[in-house]
Amino acid sequence: MGVTLDLSRPAAKPPATVRPNLCGMTRAELAAALVAADVVPAAKAKMRATQLWRWIHHYGVTDFERMTDVAKETRAVLAQAFNLARPEIVERQVSKDGTRKYLIRLAPGIEVETVYIPDVGRAGALCVSSQVGCTLNCTFCHTGTQALVRNLTAAEIVAQVQVARDDLEEWPSPKEDRRLTNIVFMGMGEPLYNLDHVAAAIDIIADNEGIAISRRRITVSTSGVVPELHDLGEKTQAMLAISLHATNDALRDVLVPLNKKYPLDQLMAGIRAYPGLSNARRVTFEYVMLKGVNDTPAEAKALVQMLKGIPAKINLIPFNPWPGTAYECSSWSTIEAFAAILNRGGYASPIRTPRGRDILAACGQLKSESEKLRASARRKIAVPASDA
Ligand code: SAH
Ligand code: SF4
Repeated sequence: MGVTLDLSRPAAKPPATVRPNLCGMTRAELAAALVAADVVPAAKAKMRATQLWRWIHHYGVTDFERMTDVAKETRAVLAQAFNLARPEIVERQVSKDGTRKYLIRLAPGIEVETVYIPDVGRAGALCVSSQVGCTLNCTFCHTGTQALVRNLTAAEIVAQVQVARDDLEEWPSPKEDRRLTNIVFMGMGEPLYNLDHVAAAIDIIADNEGIAISRRRITVSTSGVVPELHDLGEKTQAMLAISLHATNDALRDVLVPLNKKYPLDQLMAGIRAYPGLSNARRVTFEYVMLKGVNDTPAEAKALVQMLKGIPAKINLIPFNPWPGTAYECSSWSTIEAFAAILNRGGYASPIRTPRGRDILAACGQLKSESEKLRASARRKIAVPASDA
């Protein structure tokens, strides 16, 4: 039986969900995707990828029609094969202090929180998530109460930056007077358990012909996955932050249970060997202030002692309480007394001002809405039929 093809009409465009999104690809992936879709011969792929790269990452376009130096027919072919869509912002909250929190739906059931904090770093920092949930169970951390759902892809990490830049109207990449100058991997998840994707995302975010946030303004915070520290430095040249929170193993074992696997002596040795560490590129030690747990003057002195010889900054984080936690934040006078000892030890202004508390945007409070929804769905299922 013969089949008649109607060639007078173009084939229907495949739905956006099956057309690969170009926005989160590395340069190499972008070039390969263009070749695979027959948009360009292999010999010209690099050049074409560079052209598109600038539109996507410097100008932030989400529509092929805006790529004015690309021929009209090529734009049509690109739109047929790919998409440039952003993920959906499910919720956007703005705090009294200017902090912005976004709940972003990356895929069905995959939602993350991303926070923009003004006046941090050079002008403003974006706190990005690297995982949905976390496999670690730091006892003072809200994310730690949530099971790991999955690692985010590089594209999903980059999308958080793109969404924030859309909202801050920061396209094309400004040379100066930026509002978003720093990236911190301090949202949900343990970035060193997802290092390949984090490293690829940093390659994209730091690229000079795109978003162009310098690697020295990108900080990766880890609870201390010692075997990955070297690779983190080699692959990303990012700034390192360590969630320390205790100066002895007995207490750190409780606060950061990963310490049982990589105790303090191993952690400190790994930090000393971090590639590129110098006075200009110091490691930040984060220390959450927990009332009656880790906040005595003796512990402040032990901290100064412990960090001797390491180019370091200390960040005291007032504990951010969350519903159900037994921990409390140290009193302000205790935090100041602790900071004064660190000051005398040579560490200037170590207290991190709490930001965005009114919208639950502070460190350790991020927990995805999807998780809450799943919990409510479970409760519904658990209701016996007679009660329903
Ligand atoms: N998993 C990584 C990065 C995300 S947590 C890590 O642990 O480093 C970012 C920072 O917030 C860490 O220093 C973490 O210890 C801290 N933190 C977690 N819960 C907190 C809370 N409730 N109050 C204050 N800081 C918290
Ligand atoms: Fe995970 Fe970091 Fe929270 Fe620990 S503090 S549970 S490592 S997100």
